[in-house]
Amino acid sequence: MGRDPLIAAVDIGGTKVAVACVSGDMEVQALRLAPTATESAEACFERLCEEVEAVIADVGPVAAIGVGTASMVDYPSGRIVESTHLPLRDFALRDELRRRFELPVAIDNDATVACIAEHRFGAGRGTRDMLMLTLGTGIGGGIIAAGQPYRGFSGAAGELGHMVIEVDGPPCSGSCPGRGCLEALVSGSVLDRRAEALAAAGSDRALAEAAVAGETVDGVLLTRLARAGDPAAVAVYEEVGALLGIGIVNLVNIFNPELVVVGGSVSEAGDLLLEPARRAVARKALVPQRDQVRILAAQFRAHAGVIGAAALAYTELLESG
Ligand SMILES: [Zn+2]
Repeated sequence: MGRDPLIAAVDIGGTKVAVACVSGDMEVQALRLAPTATESAEACFERLCEEVEAVIADVGPVAAIGVGTASMVDYPSGRIVESTHLPLRDFALRDELRRRFELPVAIDNDATVACIAEHRFGAGRGTRDMLMLTLGTGIGGGIIAAGQPYRGFSGAAGELGHMVIEVDGPPCSGSCPGRGCLEALVSGSVLDRRAEALAAAGSDRALAEAAVAGETVDGVLLTRLARAGDPAAVAVYEEVGALLGIGIVNLVNIFNPELVVVGGSVSEAGDLLLEPARRAVARKALVPQRDQVRILAAQFRAHAGVIGAAALAYTELLESG
């Protein structure tokens, strides 16, 4: 069993809500997954409350509730301002949860809480200035500046996936009106499409065989083939990793971080993705930033969402007393 205090940690995503009890050393217990109720804000809120109640019934009393959500959050007021994939907008989630559970509650954007978790408990321990890119279906970003999360004027800072890499590039996803954003060039959705295109072209034997054998042709398969040394899959990661590197060059020049952490499902490719990115930074970023920055994979892979939510509650509510 993990150390006290216990935190009820909630990760609200576009398709599922994950709730778990997380201890002070970030050990995950009693994890529950439920489909996100997308029909209304009230239904979504009720669903996540039921899951929190079930976790508390399972593990006993908790000291606080932490929430990470795929939304723009006004951190000081604990309100969800806007969500692209959730029915939660202009919703006072922190106050509603406080009323319901009579516990301290902290809530923030999911990429920001993942960054806080890596900074305090993961790959970024001991750093003062770090950035995190979460490469999943889209790309989330987090900024730690002078040891503190940087949230911007209205809590919307850190959308690192929407820096423009290619003017007039492919259209970006969701509510982003941009083109050629990092997210449009490097995310998990891009890798899925690249895998499908390779399979359709029939030029990569391993991928074609996997497709014939009934395997899902997506980024996960592409990663597995790249790890096994399949040349076409490796070439995709070389290309995508170099584009990720261009994004990191911009970030390194602007923020001068000591560390950039790369997490999310796409980071499972490890050095296949990160080595081309490191080479781009070594060639193209300014001195002295480029010689000071390290680029590492995230420490928290499985359950990163609930661990982030717990890290937020732990650092913002319990440590500060
Ligand atoms: Zn964009």
